Amino acid sequence: MSMIRAFIALEIPPALQNIIAEHSAALQRDIPHAIRWVAAANIHLTLKFLGDTSPASLQGLIHSLSAVINQQEPFQISIGEFGLFPNPKRPRVLWIGIQAPPDLDRLYHAIETACARLGYPAEEKPFNPHLTLGRVREEADQTRLRPALQNYQIGQLGAIDVESVTLFRSDLRPQGPSYTALAHIPLAQLDS
Ligand code: ATP
Ligand code: MG
Repeated sequence: MSMIRAFIALEIPPALQNIIAEHSAALQRDIPHAIRWVAAANIHLTLKFLGDTSPASLQGLIHSLSAVINQQEPFQISIGEFGLFPNPKRPRVLWIGIQAPPDLDRLYHAIETACARLGYPAEEKPFNPHLTLGRVREEADQTRLRPALQNYQIGQLGAIDVESVTLFRSDLRPQGPSYTALAHIPLAQLDS
């Protein structure tokens, strides 16, 4: 049975993906070749990378995730501020930041714990929520890149209501990854 490359993420509404993509288009004009840019429709907030997952285990995974995710009430996060990993002197990843209440951390840890119980390896790095805009190519000339990136600023872009978590399948292709939503797992339904 062929394995599914899976990850868990928050979706970004298309309107906000397009605003983000306008910023990445502005940067692309300055540094067209040094970066592998993320397509607008692929911009997302990764919560957990699962990697190879058997199709047979998906229902159990969704069930376990639902049990913890639907314990938590919806909340809002804000999107904004441009940043570079690991640092501005030697950038590898270009990203936009997330400003969130403690709910996001709680959601992250609940998902991490549920996945660990199912045998997925625990993440060693601390959770650093961000939206990846692009990744610096290995062969990029860092001395040309740095000035363009160091002075670039992006302010607040908008807010998102977090009401569900998405389980994605990723298919890596030479022209870039293709993501498919396999399940939308809702947070607690608010009484209306
Ligand atoms: P590409 O690998 O072609 O650049 P991608 O990174 O967008 O594309 P995937 O590698 O399938 O696609 O990754 C899906 C998501 O999981 C992305 O948000 C990626 O940053 C994240 N991710 C991938 N590998 C890991 C990993 N080993 N640890 C943590 N997060 C990961
Ligand atoms: Mg990758």
